[in-house]
Amino acid sequence: MLTNRPRGTNDILPGQVEKWQLIEETMRCISAEYNYQEIRTPIFEHTELFIRGVGETTDIVEKEMYTFVDRGERSVTLRPEGTAPVVRSYLENRLNSGPQPVKLYYTGPMFRYDRPQSGRYRQFHQVGVEAFGSHHPALDAEVMSMAMEFYRRIGLVDVELHINSVGCPECRPQLKEKLCEYFRPRESDLCSNCRQRLVKNPLRIIDCKNPGCQEIAKDAPTPLDHLCSDCKEHFDSVCEYLKALGIPFVINPRLVRGLDYYTHTAFEIMAKGLGAQSSVGGGGRYNRLIEECGGPSIPGIGYALGVERIILALEQQGVETAPSPGPDVFVAILTPDLKADAFKILSKLRKKGISSDQDYLGRSLKAQMKYASKINAKYTIIVGNDELEREMVILREMDTGEQSEVPVEDAAAKIKERLASCTD
Ligand code: AMP
Repeated sequence: MLTNRPRGTNDILPGQVEKWQLIEETMRCISAEYNYQEIRTPIFEHTELFIRGVGETTDIVEKEMYTFVDRGERSVTLRPEGTAPVVRSYLENRLNSGPQPVKLYYTGPMFRYDRPQSGRYRQFHQVGVEAFGSHHPALDAEVMSMAMEFYRRIGLVDVELHINSVGCPECRPQLKEKLCEYFRPRESDLCSNCRQRLVKNPLRIIDCKNPGCQEIAKDAPTPLDHLCSDCKEHFDSVCEYLKALGIPFVINPRLVRGLDYYTHTAFEIMAKGLGAQSSVGGGGRYNRLIEECGGPSIPGIGYALGVERIILALEQQGVETAPSPGPDVFVAILTPDLKADAFKILSKLRKKGISSDQDYLGRSLKAQMKYASKINAKYTIIVGNDELEREMVILREMDTGEQSEVPVEDAAAKIKERLASCTD
C-alpha cells in the first residue's frame, strides 16, 4: 500500500519527464506567438462552479468528480477540467473590464474518477487555452490552428481535426425535439446511459460510443441540419478561415463532446494508433458559459489537449525525444582532504552556468571516474595536491580519455569553449 500509487495516477520519472518538458515548453512558445498569456488557477474549486459550469447532466458532474467536504464544511472539488476555473477567475479578477479579447493559456493536472485504462487516468494533464470577449469566427479558426500547430511542432503526425457546430439556444430546442421524436420509438434498444440522455440531453446520444447506439443514431437528425441562420453563417465562416490557413479538417456531424457548455463550434483532434482513446484534444465555443457562471453575456472559446495521450501517440509513432544529457563536468578528487577546494571549483563552474556534480559517497578516485562515466559526464576535472599547489587541475575529456593540465582560473572558460565547439 505504502509503495503503490493510487489507481489511475502516474509517476513521471526522469527519462519520461523530458517529453513533458518539451510539451510544456512548446505550449509556452506557441502561446507567446499567438499572444496568449499564462493563467494559473487553484487545483480545487467550490463544487458548485463545476455543477453550473460543466453541466449537471454531464458524465463528469454525475459520476467523475473528486468531491469532498473540507474541515470548514464546504464542498470542494478537484478540478476535472480547466475552462470553468478560468471563467471564474476572469470574472473574479474583472479581466472583462480590460481590453478584449482576453487570451489565456494553462497547463496542469485535472482529476476525473474514470475507469483507468491506457490513455485514461484519474489524474491526467492538459494544456489548454481560453479566449474571451469575441464572437468573431476568425478566433475559432485561430484556436484550432494553434492546436494543430502545437501537434506539428512536437512532431505528432496523422492527426485529424474534426469540426462541427452544435448550434445555440436559438436552434437547439428544435433539434432536441427532433432528436426525441427520432429516438423515442427506439428507446428500448438504446444503452441505459442513452435512455437517461433521452430525457436529460438527447444531443449526447448521437456521439455515444456504444455500437448498438451508434447503429441506431446513424440516421438521426444532426445539429448541422438544424442550425439557425446565425449559426450556419458562423460555421461556414470558420470553415472558410480554416481553408484560407491551409488547415485540413473533416466535418463530423456527430461530434457533440461531453461538456454541456458548448455552443456553435465544437472540435476534436484524433490521432491514429491510439485505439479507443484516440482523442488527443478538443474544444469549442461556449457563448453562454460566462453568463451561466454569474457574469455578463460574454462569448468564449477554448480547447484542452491531453498530455498523456499526446505522449502515447508520440510513442506509438516512434517519435523520440532526446533524453536528459549528463552533467558537463564531474569534479573528482585524488584524496579526501581536497574536498573543500574541489567544492569551491565546482561551485564556480555552476555559477558560470556549467552543469556539474561531484561525489557524495566518499569513493576512491577510480570509483569516482567510473561513476562520472555512468552519469554521462562530458568532462572530469581531477583535483590533486601537486597540481593544486601550482593552481592547476587536470581536465579529462571522457569520450577520448585525453587529459591536459589547465589553470584553476581558466577551467570554466576552457570548458565553455570546448562545449561550444561541440555544438557548432
Ligand atoms: P475534455 O476536457 O473532456 O474535452 O478532454 C480534452 C482532452 O483531454 C481529451 O481529448 C483527452 O486527450 C484528454 N483527456 C480527457 N479525459 C482524460 C482522462 N481521463 N485521461 C487522460 N486524458 C484525458
